Amino acid sequence: MALKKILIVEDEADLAALICDYATAHGFAAQVIHNGAAALDHLKTQPVDFLILDLMLPDLDGLSLCRELRTFSSIPVIMVTAKVEEIDRILGLEIGADDYLCKPFSPRELMARVKTILKRTEPSNSVSGSVSQASPTKTPILEIDQQARRITLQSQALELTRSEYLILVHFASHVGQVFSRAQLLDIANQDSLDSTDRAIDSHIKNLRKKLNQIVPDTTPIHSIYGLGYRFDAW
Ligand code: CA
Repeated sequence: MALKKILIVEDEADLAALICDYATAHGFAAQVIHNGAAALDHLKTQPVDFLILDLMLPDLDGLSLCRELRTFSSIPVIMVTAKVEEIDRILGLEIGADDYLCKPFSPRELMARVKTILKRTEPSNSVSGSVSQASPTKTPILEIDQQARRITLQSQALELTRSEYLILVHFASHVGQVFSRAQLLDIANQDSLDSTDRAIDSHIKNLRKKLNQIVPDTTPIHSIYGLGYRFDAW
């Protein structure tokens, strides 16, 4: 099997080299480009499986690059930034990155996230031909009927409040994307008054509980430290 190609777009040469070493050690074919415009040219012409993208770059910043990339490619992207307070702003722009990491980060953590995202974004391509891999438990099925404002999990109706319903619909249509509490608050509170971050945490807690009544022991809603929440398939 060919190695997965990771492109590292980072203008700090030492950091880029470090990430490159780690990626290579983790079995990827890694390549570094130090400048945004050159990286975009590369992405337009060369096959790349994964992008690690710094926010502040010469010639073309990471945000613009990611936006441009999304017009022609859906490869996974981890966006890296030096400022934690930037992340909320970036999330609000919905540029389509898959995950966000704040410097300084451990390269090991970065690699763990790369692998998680690759697993998530590759729906069992590699096993599609084989009949019975000791089949992992079946993925629970969530069905949304927006007209009836009804969501079922494993064919069982979920009794949700309006806010919970709105959050779950939003999550389910943006699988794998991280949303800040502020964003979820906007989604949940289209006309109500309970507008604090705490309210979101409590909606999430209740949602998890209701999902767990049908599918116990595991949750698709993940807390992302310092950022918010992300919904993954089970
Ligand atoms: Ca930079």
